[in-house]
Amino acid sequence: MANLGNPKNTIEIIQKYEFVFQKRFGQNFLIDTHVLDKIIRAAGVTKEDFVLEIGPGIGTMTQYLAEAARAVCAVEIDRNLIPILEETLSGYENVTVINEDILKVDVAKLAEEENGGRPIKVVANLPYYITTPIIMGLFESHVPVDNITIMVQKEVADRMQTGPGSKDYGALSLAVQYYAEPYIVANVPPNCFLPRPKVGSAVIRLTRHREPAVQVKDEKLLFRLIRASFNQRRKTLQNGWSNSSELSFSKEEIAGAIRAMGLSPTVRGEALTLEQFAGLSNLLSELGGGRN
Ligand code: SAM
Repeated sequence: MANLGNPKNTIEIIQKYEFVFQKRFGQNFLIDTHVLDKIIRAAGVTKEDFVLEIGPGIGTMTQYLAEAARAVCAVEIDRNLIPILEETLSGYENVTVINEDILKVDVAKLAEEENGGRPIKVVANLPYYITTPIIMGLFESHVPVDNITIMVQKEVADRMQTGPGSKDYGALSLAVQYYAEPYIVANVPPNCFLPRPKVGSAVIRLTRHREPAVQVKDEKLLFRLIRASFNQRRKTLQNGWSNSSELSFSKEEIAGAIRAMGLSPTVRGEALTLEQFAGLSNLLSELGGGRN
């Protein structure tokens, strides 16, 4: 089958099947061979790997993955794309296509059955509105994942990678960095897609840490503290945490933990590193005020 990274071939196949782009599925297909090559290289896909591709579209990146990997499983929600994928992937025996919503797929089971429970690689160019639930779902459930290489809105990539002091720093930065090492592989302008999206995109690779970046006694409490810090980011920790419906620490308890960490009483979450959040979480977990 002709290389779909070439825009001419993509247009041809879309016309042949009279494919109608669905906005609700965030369908913007990649038409740039350099970007496709970069994604495969950044993910470090080899002939040993089992790759889960989320949202193959017409199969453009799937072709590249099939060449590089041992096996590829591509999960596509839009049933109108299935006959197209049958044609565009017909030359590859190592690709399986599943017509399903990725949020309903048991990825841990897939990794167990297809890769003997060894870490898999995940590659995706997804609609932006489901990026965060998918990434966090993969990290939080104990799916063995080596890395996730994903095209996201440029601004979301910046949020994942940044640290304290930046306006982009927040709950997503901390959650991603708790589980993984983020690295922005490439910025991708709208003209690399058909149709062109309104915003710039970036490819980010999230390499999963073997152990979380910090050790905490109570992971749930850590994430509650993080959420409560950024729900109202202009509030001091003392005010944000004592007013949070997810927490039940007194102002005095919070002030004591902040003091014990050597931080200013008026400190805000946006100034704290992941290590400092972990330290505060460990001090507070001994007081038991995180709600179940
Ligand atoms: N990978 C292709 C490419 O790079 O050209 C297509 C990318 S397009 C931005 C996103 C794809 O994800 C579409 O094919 C869309 O139908 C699919 N998709 C959207 N939501 C999905 C979901 N919940 N589960 C699986 N696939 C989904």
